[in-house]
Amino acid sequence: MSKIIINKRNYIHNLDIISKQAGSKEKIAVVLKDNAYGHGIIEISKIAKEFGIKKAVVKNLKEALKIEDFFEDIIILSEINFHTYSHTFHIVINSIEQIHKIPKNTNVHLKVDTGMHRNGISKNQLKEAIDGICRQNLNLTGIMTHHRGADGLNSEFFWQKRNFRLVKEEVKRICEQLFLPLPKFHSCNSAALFRTANFDDDFARVGIASYGYFENHPSFDKIDLKPVLSLWAQKVTTRVLKKNQSVGYGGTYKTDKNIIVSTYDIGYGDGFLRINENQSYKTPKGYKVLGRISMDNLSLDSQDEEVCMFDDARALAKIHNTISYEIVTTLSSELKREVI
Ligand SMILES: *Cc1c(COP(=O)(O)O)cnc(C)c1O
Repeated sequence: MSKIIINKRNYIHNLDIISKQAGSKEKIAVVLKDNAYGHGIIEISKIAKEFGIKKAVVKNLKEALKIEDFFEDIIILSEINFHTYSHTFHIVINSIEQIHKIPKNTNVHLKVDTGMHRNGISKNQLKEAIDGICRQNLNLTGIMTHHRGADGLNSEFFWQKRNFRLVKEEVKRICEQLFLPLPKFHSCNSAALFRTANFDDDFARVGIASYGYFENHPSFDKIDLKPVLSLWAQKVTTRVLKKNQSVGYGGTYKTDKNIIVSTYDIGYGDGFLRINENQSYKTPKGYKVLGRISMDNLSLDSQDEEVCMFDDARALAKIHNTISYEIVTTLSSELKREVI
């Protein structure tokens, strides 16, 4: 059976590097949305907890409920209908209108738009939002923003950073006026954290770097991160392909000599994106994908019982003209995950 192998040592290696950059383990929230970027939310949560991580970030309540016992604080990024109470959960408020729909005593993190213009209130709505949060008897536990361009070689990152500093000052003033305790401040994803020399937020929300990838502009410092996930396929059948015979849909791969080919049990239905005759891909051991990838199968010039399809998503990201995030996140949650 095809499977995903999670390399625990590599994940811990990455968390080590990240906590040094952030200052401590307490200053990291691991981002586990979308099944921990395809790695397996339960498997990754267990290791993160063992390492000493106390905070996590997920997309919705369904994900949060799966990992409730692993962390002290779980930030839920986009759940519109939130009606569950837990001391552990903190729901992100993305607009003023959302405030009135949240049940009293819920922990909330207020998202402020500092330039990405995707979600969040604007800086000049801060007073209105915090007043609304108080009136609704919500518990303001965090103030956050998100960077749109921390991975790019330009000044965007710095003006968003400056905007967030102004937000912090304003929130401090408002909280003193209203006799409110100070919420936690957080703004950095992986790229932003590694661009920050003196990290002074309460914590960073780190996703892709913990899984071993970094999509920053090549001129930034190289960081010794190690990919955590590898994908393995199992052989279904082997045959001899005679000269001028072809394999797969459309018969697009034709051999000019007798070769041995095997079919393996992975395809784009498992989230291993389709490769066709216009692309060429070799596995880490050098086996070539022959012809088009089917929904549940692919063919390789190999006879091995098990083949590692990839252990570094970057080569595939290049072929598919995308980023490492997409290659790992599309992997099916149905695939077996094995931690070694
Ligand atoms: C996904 C996400 C992150 C993590 O980003 P990485 O680039 O993977 O580190 C952080 N914050 C928010 C709001 C996110 O949606």
